[in-house]
Amino acid sequence: MGVAEAEEPSGERAAASDPTPRSLTFFPRETEPSVMTGARVGSSLTDEQEAIRELVREFAVEELRPGAGEADEAESFPEDAWDGLAELGLTGLTVPEAYGGFDADETTYAVVNEELAYGHLAVATALSVHCLATSCIAEFGSEAQRERWLPEMAAAGRPVGMFCLSEPHAGSNPAEMSTTAEYDPETDEYVLNGEKQWITNGKRGGVAIVFARADAGEPDSITQFLVPADAEGFEVGRKEEKLGLRASDTTGISFDGCRVPAENRLTEEGKGLSAAFRTLTGGRIGIAAQAVGVAQAALDEATSYAAEREQFGEPIAEIQTIRHKLAEMATDVSAARLLVREACRQAEAGEDNRVAASKAKYRASEAAMSVTNEAVQIHGGYGYTTDFDVERLYRDAKITEIYEGTTEIQKTIIARGMLGK
Ligand SMILES: Cc1cc2nc3c(=O)[nH]c(=O)nc-3n(C[C@H](O)[C@H](O)[C@H](O)COP(=O)(O)OP(=O)(O)OC[C@H]3O[C@@H](n4cnc5c(N)ncnc54)[C@H](O)[C@@H]3O)c2cc1C
Repeated sequence: MGVAEAEEPSGERAAASDPTPRSLTFFPRETEPSVMTGARVGSSLTDEQEAIRELVREFAVEELRPGAGEADEAESFPEDAWDGLAELGLTGLTVPEAYGGFDADETTYAVVNEELAYGHLAVATALSVHCLATSCIAEFGSEAQRERWLPEMAAAGRPVGMFCLSEPHAGSNPAEMSTTAEYDPETDEYVLNGEKQWITNGKRGGVAIVFARADAGEPDSITQFLVPADAEGFEVGRKEEKLGLRASDTTGISFDGCRVPAENRLTEEGKGLSAAFRTLTGGRIGIAAQAVGVAQAALDEATSYAAEREQFGEPIAEIQTIRHKLAEMATDVSAARLLVREACRQAEAGEDNRVAASKAKYRASEAAMSVTNEAVQIHGGYGYTTDFDVERLYRDAKITEIYEGTTEIQKTIIARGMLGK
């Protein structure tokens, strides 16, 4: 199963021999994912996107969810699940086909993120950060860099990618970063010094996209670099102990005279921050979709629990208060998903979707918080224990309001879009 087996992916041929899609390479790329073909089904997904959704949902339910509680408790990333993602071709989700990836459109990217988060948010987060890294290499890297990194990152999921923007004193405003990358003309290298904070895949990562000032005193000199984790002076800090997302490995990374060849500079000096913001617009849609996945998981848990749990001689699902809670939760999930789909539609139509991406992230992450909160409430005391998934979903949901731009920053972007400043 997987990428290696499907050397010449032909959807029709594969379908004839085995009707069950088992990796992204199964899907026929000649299918035009367009409204014009009439291929969109009731869910507004094309047949291909719907089939991918089902494939990833099955993986999430069978391979991710069962181990999520244990991984959370052990604060240990499930590497076997990562291998499973690679087998499915998901680690090459945003890698161009020429380098062995799937080159997913925005809707497919969102659908995959939603379904993985339905199973285990920590795994979905790790993949979305890996995808940020592969996207940067694909968009900004030289041909030699693409060939050096992308095929392996797509096929094996290793080296795992990292995206190093945040710093201890520069989060919502990365322009305040203080990491520097000074050019050394004698060796034709850049020398990085400084500290990054909150880096997902920090311990398990093999290659980092790093943002640093090429001129220490100049905020407009932020530049993007590719830094292998085995470069001398690349130091991984302690793993954070977190409220939720505990299986995800989040660390500081410091650079102590870390030298990279000048060819590892991915953007012109000073063009790094705008590149980061562009990458993060797509990333935000992924996080919004993950929030929808967490909310959907909590809704499903609450719905089945309400049908089974009896009080006052009847299932609590018969009580109107509980029914109304479920109705409100379901509406929140649907509305959030529609905002995600709209942000994807705009991207696919070539429109400026920055505001739509922020609306989706803002609304979906709030939905994740309120839906998981109500799911715990519907479980009563049991929901407050680790015996039920809703306890973890509630803790995990919070991060979607924080990373890749807090709720407050999303509102700032939305208002700026409305008011023009
Ligand atoms: C688990 C986890 C994983 C992460 N992974 C990564 C990663 O892989 N790579 C990476 O680069 N970063 C990562 N981050 C960092 C994340 O993106 C930042 O935490 C986030 O951008 C917020 O920055 P901060 O924590 O410094 O908060 P601050 O910027 O200090 O904000 C504190 C509070 O002030 C509010 N605030 C700040 N400025 C404004 C404003 N102008 N208007 C209104 N309110 C404002 C914020 O909304 C927030 O409520 C991760 C964080 C976590 C917790």
